[in-house]
Amino acid sequence: MNLRMYRFVFWVALLLHVLGSARPARAQAAFQTLLTNGPSSNRLNMTLLSEGYTASQLPKFLFDATNAVNALLAAPPYSEYSNYFNAFAIQVASLQSGSSHPNSGIQVDTYFGSSFDPFSDKLITIPPFTYDTNYAHGQGRVDSLLQTYMPGTGLPILLVNDLIAGGSDGFYQTAIASTAAGAYDNLRHETGHVLANLGDEYTLEYPGFPNTEEPNTTQETRPGFIKWKAWIDTNATPVPTPATAPYWGVVGLFQGAHYHTTNWYRPQQDCAMRSPSVAFCSVCSEALVKAIYAKVRPVDSATPVATNFTVTTAQAVPFNLTLLHPATHSLSVQWSLDGVRQTGASNSFFSVSPIALSNGTHTVSVSVKDLTSLVRNDPSNLLSQTLSWSFKLSGSRLAIDSTMSVAGGKFAFHISGSATNAVIVQSSSNLSSWTPLRTNSFPVGGFWYTNTVGAGGAALFYRAATTP
Ligand SMILES: [Zn+2]
Repeated sequence: MNLRMYRFVFWVALLLHVLGSARPARAQAAFQTLLTNGPSSNRLNMTLLSEGYTASQLPKFLFDATNAVNALLAAPPYSEYSNYFNAFAIQVASLQSGSSHPNSGIQVDTYFGSSFDPFSDKLITIPPFTYDTNYAHGQGRVDSLLQTYMPGTGLPILLVNDLIAGGSDGFYQTAIASTAAGAYDNLRHETGHVLANLGDEYTLEYPGFPNTEEPNTTQETRPGFIKWKAWIDTNATPVPTPATAPYWGVVGLFQGAHYHTTNWYRPQQDCAMRSPSVAFCSVCSEALVKAIYAKVRPVDSATPVATNFTVTTAQAVPFNLTLLHPATHSLSVQWSLDGVRQTGASNSFFSVSPIALSNGTHTVSVSVKDLTSLVRNDPSNLLSQTLSWSFKLSGSRLAIDSTMSVAGGKFAFHISGSATNAVIVQSSSNLSSWTPLRTNSFPVGGFWYTNTVGAGGAALFYRAATTP
């Protein structure tokens, strides 16, 4: 390379550098809420970003983003858990519309620098990639905007404004899909990668693709060792399973997955991870439900907020849960008191009566579970949540015992227990108006009361109570 050529290359390199570093300042981002189902601290937050939309096309982006969210949440298994999601949009304009198509010689200047792959008209990626290895020009911008506007994003989605259907998992970081017809099926497929690390169930050869198993792909053929064995009825389904009509819709072990036609297996004949327009198979659905529960806990909030407290009155102590709501089934709830399951205590509300307990420390716990048929294998108990409270009961506790007849037709009773204040003995004929008979400081071991009316007196109710 002669010097003149070197200088030319230097100036081109410098120009590219200046253009690249100037990019972040040229677009102003705007944040908008599309869907709120609860606190973002306990929801799977989808954040959709605009790619290849010019400033005048941003209203179209909001329209596309809303449609994408609706399409995703209408499809199983997301539809059952649509209340577990929030959705947000980050609008940022690109200088030009669409995405680059290198195999057609089309280069478009967009905010995230997306490009279709030269070897596949279905694959869209953003830098760092072959043409631009600078993270800051693509994924770095996604990460920076998410950090600014919605750091709690559980599912980043890049909507690419292009007429050609395509997408990718953004290396398991960002679900990327164009907005062409049918593209929301592609988007759903990509969310399978990003949310649950699902693998492609394609058989198309992809030399060099890492041979790492995913939740829905395996090389294992021994029935007892297959990771989705809980879904296989080995009495009725041969393993490996022939891809023939009797086994359509059945979970088995079907050859062809993970970019191999042989020696790699998938759970069902078809699945969204194989054909984006069909539903997720049972094994992929299970992985997605578990992925949702890895980010969203079944209990939104609970009271008392304090989990360790003291009770000094006889008033009932209420416990309350605010629960998530799957679309067609309820979560299972079971309350326990001092480690004993309480029969019938299966609602979001539970109450403890101090009168029924001795002074000392007690525990209340509640187990909340999602018993959905979509999940059979949950070794980490992602679908369960247990909360517990510990409280110390220390209050006045009185009992009338040892009633007996005494001379003169009178009777006596003993007042036992403990009291922090003086104790008053009262009588009543109607259980509503009470007459004070005697007030006594409460000695250790209690005290005796003998009534003053002898034989022939009217029948009365008696009680002992602490004074305020
Ligand atoms: Zn699948």
